[in-house]
Amino acid sequence: MLGHSHATSGALAWAGAAAALPLSILTFPVVTAGHISTVDLVMGTFLTAGAALLPDADHPNGTIAHVLGPVSHAACKVISQVSGGHRHATHSFAFVALVTIGTWAGEHWLHRWFTLGLVFFLLALAVRALNLCPPGHGISAYGTVVVLAAAGTFAMDQWISDKPTWLPFSVGLGALAHLAGDCLTDRGCRLFWPFQLRTCVPVIERTGNKVETWVLSPLFVLGTLALLWYTLVHHP
Ligand SMILES: [Zn+2]
Repeated sequence: MLGHSHATSGALAWAGAAAALPLSILTFPVVTAGHISTVDLVMGTFLTAGAALLPDADHPNGTIAHVLGPVSHAACKVISQVSGGHRHATHSFAFVALVTIGTWAGEHWLHRWFTLGLVFFLLALAVRALNLCPPGHGISAYGTVVVLAAAGTFAMDQWISDKPTWLPFSVGLGALAHLAGDCLTDRGCRLFWPFQLRTCVPVIERTGNKVETWVLSPLFVLGTLALLWYTLVHHP
């Protein structure tokens, strides 16, 4: 699957969860009687979209490898080697658990710098994958990514609580949406890594990139907008 399909499916998963789930699940494990504000809802959409790129950190030529130039490229090469190559360890339930717990732990023990750093990185991924910046690897592309991600991080710093309780959920959900997407392709994923079992339901094997770009992604975006609108109207 392409980067933008993953990102839009992540956004859709977040919007769907926000519309369907009781608040206590979104804010697990800190069950409070508060409510998710509009800013939380919108930020969560972009952050989950970015998190939906995370499993491809094992791919030295994927969207995530190019998001921040040579730095992310080098990091992805290392992750690729450590995790056993493309679609191994980072495409499993174990990885989903790791990023969810890692985000929770980082928020609690490393505090605000961790949260804002993670937010910046995930927003940079979302900007890149959702094609909100010029294409290519020029200075205008990286510049736009950095400026938009910094603006979003600033908004997060201003308007969101110190430790957004929904952030671990958002990161885990994004990673899970990615796995679901990759399972629909003919290569599938080793969801139960380290076990060898490969899960795949190859329904988009023959459709190719055009269907993803012109049909799937636009549908995901429309679905996301509809669900966000529904949530805002029904949980004011
Ligand atoms: Zn993947």
